[in-house]
Amino acid sequence: VHLALSEISRALPSDALITSGAALDAYASDASEVAPVTPLAVAKVASTEEISAVLRACNRHGVPVTSRGAGTSRVGGAVPAAGGLVISFERMNRVKHIEANDGLAVVEPGVVTGELHRSVESAGAFFPPDPNSWESCTIGGNVATNAGGPRALGYGVTRDYVLGLEAVTADGTVLKVGRRTRKGVTGYDLVSLLVGSEGTLAVVSEITLGVVRKPEAVGTIVIVLDDESRVHPCLNALRSHGVALRCAELLDSHTLALVRPKAGLALPDRAKALLIVEVDGDASTVEAMVERAGNVALESGALDVLVATEGTRREALWKSRRELSHALRRAAAKKLSEDVVVPPSKLGELIAFCRRTTETSPVRMPAYGHAGDGNLHVNLLWDDPELDVEPQVRRLFEETIRLGGTLSGEHGIGLLKAPYLPLEQSPDVIALERRIKDVFDPNRILNPGKIFADERRHGDC
Ligand SMILES: Cc1cc2nc3c(=O)[nH]c(=O)nc-3n(C[C@H](O)[C@H](O)[C@H](O)COP(=O)(O)OP(=O)(O)OC[C@H]3O[C@@H](n4cnc5c(N)ncnc54)[C@H](O)[C@@H]3O)c2cc1C
Repeated sequence: VHLALSEISRALPSDALITSGAALDAYASDASEVAPVTPLAVAKVASTEEISAVLRACNRHGVPVTSRGAGTSRVGGAVPAAGGLVISFERMNRVKHIEANDGLAVVEPGVVTGELHRSVESAGAFFPPDPNSWESCTIGGNVATNAGGPRALGYGVTRDYVLGLEAVTADGTVLKVGRRTRKGVTGYDLVSLLVGSEGTLAVVSEITLGVVRKPEAVGTIVIVLDDESRVHPCLNALRSHGVALRCAELLDSHTLALVRPKAGLALPDRAKALLIVEVDGDASTVEAMVERAGNVALESGALDVLVATEGTRREALWKSRRELSHALRRAAAKKLSEDVVVPPSKLGELIAFCRRTTETSPVRMPAYGHAGDGNLHVNLLWDDPELDVEPQVRRLFEETIRLGGTLSGEHGIGLLKAPYLPLEQSPDVIALERRIKDVFDPNRILNPGKIFADERRHGDC
């Protein structure tokens, strides 16, 4: 380690390498329940050349490296589990340029996603991916986790907008993969491989993003339901009546009870679930779609339909939706948040499973989230710190797979879900993924322990 650090200190300005003191603790944890691990050093890189120099030194001396955006990972992705060095992108936070006419933006990885939204919109374009952490997470973290958000239903996820990447492999080689055009099929699709690879294959140093035309108007409708089982039939009815939703967010009965006082909505007592849905487009289409959506929802059994297109009401609603995660955190001594996905037609079965667990165990399982995509944030809440919730987590994942779903819709596997990867992927697939990892990172220095469970190298240095 000391040899690596002395090489790095020659390549970086003196204030860019932290090797001691309390400042290191700020890089020990993320937004998951994973226990903090203080790194031995933090490199605040400012350029691709600096990233390359840091990686060359760490690779030569076998020092683990964890890339870190804003540390909002829900699965321990940004926790330097094997110790070693953290690369932080806080000094690489420039939107380099936006070419609205060509539909692209070139950015550094440390740009906060909300800043990116604002820059792109002031250039007259639109970057749709909107993880609910957008005011703090970075685009580099979004690329590494293939982040999604409410608008994924209509617009897709981060991967759908990454045209090209500059990335640095473990030995310091700088690769430019992908392109600057929307179409292109030259060679293997390495962009897709790197997007969602959770910092285990390469360090992303520059991102070329596709941007689209900003919709002229947005209509927001709150559909009030008396039972969670009505969610899927209601969404189906909207779809079959030609209402193209850009998002459809569910609040189940538990989460609804938490936000009811803050959402600024007059809800009937019988309300047991809410769907927040949005349409967008030109103003007249939106007006017609809002009306059609309201009628269809009422015909399919909704208790009520509230239109929240007006700015402040809409913002209050989304603010309470974004704060749900924190509200749930306060509702119990312990909390785990999962992000499983099932085919939308199986949503009812997944929610029923959560209800049964809540009724028959000390673990409560409220669920909310991206219902239109079948992607639910199933939370596990419990109060007894001695309680082992692993069996409940495993049962949730087994049930998800049984329903034809997947373990993670957006948070990734990280450390927390690594033990469960074999529930979804066959030994042959995992073996192939490991061989791919070895091609990019033969000494396994990049984010060890993430995605593949038995690779963790605690106390390696
Ligand atoms: C309140 C809250 C709401 C959230 N809502 C959503 C949501 O709606 N949708 C969603 O998808 N996620 C959501 N998340 C999870 C989280 O915000 C995302 O995973 C986000 O993409 C992480 O970005 P970050 O900058 O914080 O990355 P970090 O947490 O710092 O890192 C995440 C992973 O990316 C890797 N990484 C970071 N930067 C780079 C880089 N430049 N090169 C290579 N690897 C890198 C890290 O090593 C790590 O594995 C939420 C989290 C919170 C706390």
